[in-house]
Amino acid sequence: MIHANWDRRIGRATELTSSFPFAAEGLRFYGRVATFQRSLYAEIQKALADSPKISSARPLRDELDLFLLLPNFPGFLSVIQRIAPAPLAQAAAALAQKGPAGWQRTIEDFWHADPELAADGDDTEEARAGDSREAGTCDRLLAWIYLQPYAEYLADRRENTILDGTPSTCPLCGSKPIVGVLRSEGDGAKKSLICMLCAHEWNFRRIYCPACGEEREPQMAFYSAPEIAHVRVDVCDTCHTYLKSIDLTKTGLAVPVVDELATIPLDLWAREHGYDKLQLNLLGT
Ligand SMILES: [Zn+2]
Ligand SMILES: [Zn+2]
Repeated sequence: MIHANWDRRIGRATELTSSFPFAAEGLRFYGRVATFQRSLYAEIQKALADSPKISSARPLRDELDLFLLLPNFPGFLSVIQRIAPAPLAQAAAALAQKGPAGWQRTIEDFWHADPELAADGDDTEEARAGDSREAGTCDRLLAWIYLQPYAEYLADRRENTILDGTPSTCPLCGSKPIVGVLRSEGDGAKKSLICMLCAHEWNFRRIYCPACGEEREPQMAFYSAPEIAHVRVDVCDTCHTYLKSIDLTKTGLAVPVVDELATIPLDLWAREHGYDKLQLNLLGT
């Protein structure tokens, strides 16, 4: 059944390739990444099938099974070298040369980093020379892509968490949300957020900025384009941050993380209007 989540993402990426031709290249790359992630998820599931459910009191990032993760890492790097755009493919080749100690460091650095900094490349440690910063950003991106299925497996294996309020970061792993979702509820819609790492979805307030906590209505607005009516840009005029939300009341066919990747014109619009994205996606948009 969980396999079905990956199948839906892969299928949606293929589907959107024709309706969003400007995003076709990115979607094809994503489809190949998700195909690898699906097989890694299956492998993790098989290897950890007999392990007990993880207590909801334990932070998700306390787990890190390097015995399971390290042996699959070189295979992942060679897949990326084949399918990724040049800069990421080169970073994967360079990382492959580093051997197990380097791989472990890359995985641990990402997993134990302050989630606020994860994958965005603003890490002060890496903010030295341009080249090493670039390499650090690519390595974090590689670790992020690789660890997603593992994090998602851990999230799927946990006891249900009773949520305290509506946190702005993932209640399971502390990462930022990658996209919002609107689902119908009664006469209206309820909003939730999806975690960038473990894909957990949690309820969120409709008018509240996950970046700065702004909750005054005039400061919080949303924009959409008629040709992409089911995706909107939620902006905050206090901290000038935005995040997209996928409105499933308008189309039930959407798969939020994939539709988020495909709708590049909305990112261009937001940037032109001075908004920064709360969390870049794995295509760097
Ligand atoms: Zn999470
Ligand atoms: Zn804000």
